[in-house]
Amino acid sequence: MAAPQSETKGAVEFIESLNPNTGEVVGAVPDMTAEQVDAAVERARVAFEEWGGLSFADRREQLVRFRRALAARVDEIAELIHKENGKPKVDAIMEAFMAISHLAHATNRAEKALRPHKVGSGIMANVRAVISYHPLGVVGVIGPWNYPMFTPFGSIGYALAAGNTVVFKPSELTPLVGQLVAEIAAKAISIPNVLQVVTGAGRAGAALAKARVNKIAFTGSAGTGKKVMAAAAENLTPVLMELGGKDPMIVAEDADVDKAAEAAVFGALTNAGQACISVERAYVASGVYDRFVDKVVDEVKKVRVGGDDEANIGAITRPAQVDIIRDHIEDAVAKGATVLTGGADKIRGYFVEPTVLTDVTPDMKIMRDETFGPVLPIVKVQSAEEAIRLANDTVFGLGSSVFGKAGVRDLANRVRAGMTAINSVMVFASMPTLPFGGVGDSGFGRIHGDEGLREFTRTQATAEERFALPMNLLSFKLPKGTYERIRGMIQQLYGGGVADRAGGVLRNLLR
Ligand code: NAP
Repeated sequence: MAAPQSETKGAVEFIESLNPNTGEVVGAVPDMTAEQVDAAVERARVAFEEWGGLSFADRREQLVRFRRALAARVDEIAELIHKENGKPKVDAIMEAFMAISHLAHATNRAEKALRPHKVGSGIMANVRAVISYHPLGVVGVIGPWNYPMFTPFGSIGYALAAGNTVVFKPSELTPLVGQLVAEIAAKAISIPNVLQVVTGAGRAGAALAKARVNKIAFTGSAGTGKKVMAAAAENLTPVLMELGGKDPMIVAEDADVDKAAEAAVFGALTNAGQACISVERAYVASGVYDRFVDKVVDEVKKVRVGGDDEANIGAITRPAQVDIIRDHIEDAVAKGATVLTGGADKIRGYFVEPTVLTDVTPDMKIMRDETFGPVLPIVKVQSAEEAIRLANDTVFGLGSSVFGKAGVRDLANRVRAGMTAINSVMVFASMPTLPFGGVGDSGFGRIHGDEGLREFTRTQATAEERFALPMNLLSFKLPKGTYERIRGMIQQLYGGGVADRAGGVLRNLLR
């Protein structure tokens, strides 16, 4: 199989999308120019005039139609995800299920999460203070190929429900899924151009990052994320960055070892390890280490790799990723790692056998950089302290998982990550009520949950004077002695005066 090819039909360049399992051409999409991307943004701006002005109820009606249309064509969507990305069909329909469930949640939740609300007035007792949320306008969404529907829907669904219109640039490896979703949206939503797709290689993504959009929601690697931020900076366009990870799993002495091992195998291998929240490293307490490793190896041996319906994991989607995976395994072995299953010599074309490594050390690439392949390095630790120290010794901070009983919540709170699963893996991604995002090189900003809806809004603070105070401080006509009066108020409120000593009663009254 080769990387996507570009060909010319008439005046338009086309990019072919290939099936990673077979190398066959799945379809072709236009390699759009910056002018075409800008034109899509302009159409989205016109659409926003109407879409952004709808009531939540009217917008919900439109998005429910979109959701039902997606559900009606889910077999077609799953087939396309399977063909373009290479994952098994059951994983593909699971992905569509999660994407649609997020759209449904965002649709139903938007009005409540974005309802204006009153807040305390502080010392300005005569002022009514309200926070409200308003759509930004046009949101540009740039997505990856590993979850070509689920991942962008974490931005698309929430941005639309918050009242924005969206221009979506899918990865050149999986553009047809994006095209199909936009086609379904165009038929279901009565206002044209509420969700559009622009296709092409990096050029189209770069054009979108530079375009006059009101926010860019980027999901992809840290390297490309930096380029997107630099391009967006030209227009001071705000950005949301969902980047890579090096997610740790910690298994404590009192953990259910079988359950933890099964979870580690799934978390490391699902989607052939091509998930931003894949388990990329496991730190296991010495007392249960041997049992854990044996169980992991047993389970991994049952995992089938291939492009057929019986396979658990398919080919690696992006050809260049195979070289990274091979390099990480070879680097680890050269530095002393032991291969328990798989290994670099078992890589056949774009199919990578699940690889379990032990005797790994922090200096190895496999322990530091995102591998994004079906590989699980396991480390024996002597204490919870050591597990936390090693888990947090990373520039990333996306997902994580912790297995144990006593003190497991405390352990979870000490992992420096955006999301942590306790006695489970990855489960937070499917929960539409929980915000999703990272810290450090894993990015910033949040999709999903109420935070994910507010991410695509402008917060407005409104202060409304309800009655005039005897002394108007917002005036040049201050009476004599104002300085002394303010000084007295400071002492009273904050300097240990009567109000302060009364335990903040006055402050509470004024709130
Ligand atoms: P990528 O190479 O960074 O590409 C991401 C997107 O950016 C693609 O649509 C790509 O288009 C586009 N792009 C490339 N160059 C660009 C440029 N100069 N300006 C604007 N856009 C540009 O990432 P990927 O390989 O597709 O995805 C894998 C990465 O995504 C991994 O690191 C993974 O951890 C991360 N990820 C993170 C999350 C999360 O939520 N945190 C979720 C999923 C994946 P082309 O493909 O057409 O070049």
